[in-house]
Amino acid sequence: MKIKTKITLGVGLLFLMIVILSVISAVYISKQKSDTQKILTANYNSLEYSKNMMLALDKISADATQIQTFRKNLALESRNITEIGEKDSYQDAVAHFENFLKTRNPESEKLIRNDLAEIMRLNMNAIVQKSDKAIATAQTATTWVISLGTICFIIAFTLLFNLPDNIARPIRELTESIKQIASGNYHERVHFRGSAEFEDLANSFNSMAEKLDEYQSSSLSKQLMDKKRVEMLISNMHDPVIGLDEKNQINFINDEALKISGLVREELIGKTAPEIAVNNDLLRELLRNAALEEKSEAPMKIFADNKESYFEQEIIPISIIPTGETEKKDAGKVILLRNITAYKELDFAKTNFIATVSHELKTPISSMKMGTQLLKNEKFGMLNEQQKELLRSIEEDGERLLDITGELLNLSQAESGNIRLNFTDCNVSALVNAAISNNAVIAENKEIEILTDFRTRESDTVKADFDKTVWVLNNFLTNAIKHSGAGQKIIISTERIKDKVRFSVQDFGKGIDPKYHSRIFDRYFQVPEDYLSGTGLGLAISKNFIEKQGGEIGLESEINKGSTFWMML
Ligand code: ADP
Repeated sequence: MKIKTKITLGVGLLFLMIVILSVISAVYISKQKSDTQKILTANYNSLEYSKNMMLALDKISADATQIQTFRKNLALESRNITEIGEKDSYQDAVAHFENFLKTRNPESEKLIRNDLAEIMRLNMNAIVQKSDKAIATAQTATTWVISLGTICFIIAFTLLFNLPDNIARPIRELTESIKQIASGNYHERVHFRGSAEFEDLANSFNSMAEKLDEYQSSSLSKQLMDKKRVEMLISNMHDPVIGLDEKNQINFINDEALKISGLVREELIGKTAPEIAVNNDLLRELLRNAALEEKSEAPMKIFADNKESYFEQEIIPISIIPTGETEKKDAGKVILLRNITAYKELDFAKTNFIATVSHELKTPISSMKMGTQLLKNEKFGMLNEQQKELLRSIEEDGERLLDITGELLNLSQAESGNIRLNFTDCNVSALVNAAISNNAVIAENKEIEILTDFRTRESDTVKADFDKTVWVLNNFLTNAIKHSGAGQKIIISTERIKDKVRFSVQDFGKGIDPKYHSRIFDRYFQVPEDYLSGTGLGLAISKNFIEKQGGEIGLESEINKGSTFWMML
C-alpha cells in the first residue's frame, strides 16, 4: 500500500471516529437535556401546583382568597396533565373541590387531599421512571463514548507507533546505502516492502547501484587494459625508461633500462630507488641528475650492446591535480634515456672526415699559396694588370681556404677530443695584448680604436692554454671589428670574479637579435641578415676551447646597441 494511502486512511479514520464521537456525544447530551426539561415541565410543575393547592386548602377556612389560589393552581394543573391516570385524579379533584365549596365538610376536603396526593404520586413515579431512563441514556452515551474513544485511541496509537517508523526506517536504510555507495561499495542494495513509494525508490536506487557497479567494473577493466597497453608500450620502447613515484619507489622500468643498468626486476620490488642505487652506479648518477631536475648537457657514456653507447638523459617531472582539488601534486618523475649512439657514431665519422680532408687540403693549398708568391716575383717574368688581379684573387681565395681548413681542423680536433691542451699560468694582460696585436692592422684599416679596461692586477694569471685562449679572444675581436662601423670603439675588459677571471670584448655595432643568442655558439651558425664572409665556426670552436679548459663562454647583446662576448677562466 502507498504510504500516502496509509496516512490518508489512518488520519481519515481517526477524523471520522472523532466526528462520530462528537455527534453521538452531542446527541446524548441534548437527549439528556430534553429529559431533564421534560421532568421539570411535566412532573415537577404538577408537584408544585399540587403542593400549592394543599397549602391553599389548609388556609381556606380562614382565608377566602385561598379559593382563588386553589383555582389558579388547579387551572395550571389542567394544562400540565402528562401522566396516565392524572386526568382522572384531576377531574376528581375539580368535582371534589366544587363539592367542598358547597358543603365545606371535612369529608370532601379529605377527598380533595386524596386526589391531590394521587396526582403527586403519579408525578413522583413518573419522575423516578424518567430519571431511570435518563440514567440509562447517560450509560448508553458513556458506553458509546468509551467505545469510540477506545477505537480512536487504538487508531492514534497505531499511527503513532507505526507511521513514523514506517517512514523513517526506509529513509534510514536508504541513507546508509547511499553512504555505502559513496564509499565505493557498489554491491549495496536496498529492499523495502509494504510501501509502494519506497519499493519504487528501492528499485530506482538498486538500478542506479547496478549501473554504477557495471560502470565501475567496465571502467576498471578499461583502466587495467589501458595500463597494460602503456606498460607494453614502455617495455617495447628501445630507449630505457624508469618511472619513479613521489616516494622515489620504482614504479616501472622497461627491459632496456634493466639491460643497461644490470638490474634484475625481482630485486626492485619493495625497494626505493636510492636503496637500489647504493649498489648501482648508473642508477646513482641518474638519480643525482634527476634530483637536479635539469637535462644534463653532456650525453652519458654507458656500455651497452657490447659497445660504448651514448645516451641523452631527460627527466620528466610528473604532477597531477587530484580530483576535487586545485593544487598540483607531485606524482613522481620519469627518467628517459635516449640512445644517441648512432648519431654520435655518425658525428664521429663526419668529424674524422672533416679532420682528414682539412689536413689533406692544407698541404696543396699551402703549395698553391707558395706558387702565387713565386709568380708575383718579377724574376720569373712580368705580369700584366689582368694577370696581377687574377693572382690577387687566387691568393685571397687561398688565404680563405687556408683559414677555413684551419678552423675545420681546429673544430674537428676539439670535438673528437684530439685536442692537446698545454696548461700554463698565463698572464691576463699578456693574453689580451696578444689578441690586440693580432688585430691591430685590421682595426687600424677600419679606424677602430681598441681600448682596454683592466680591472685585474698586472700580475694576475689564469691557468689556461695560452694559444687557444688567445685564439678565442682573437675571434671575439675579429668579429667585433667585422661588425662595428668605421671609427667606432671596442673595449676589452678583464675582471676577477671570485677565483676566476672574466674577459669581455664589447663592441658598439649593430648587435645580435636575442632570438639568435641560443644558437650563436652552434656550428655553422651565422645571423641570417648578415651573411658576411665567414664560416660560422669561430664561436663554436671558441666554446669548445673554453669548455675544454673548464671555463664558461657567453654573450650579452642588444640590437643596435652592440654586443659583449665574454669568457670566464
Ligand atoms: P663567422 O666566421 O661567420 O664570423 P662566428 O662563429 O665567429 O663565425 O660568428 C657567428 C655569427 O655570429 C656571425 O656570422 C655573425 O652573424 C655573428 N656575430 C659574431 N660576433 C658578432 C658581433 N660582435 N656582432 C654582431 N654579430 C656577431
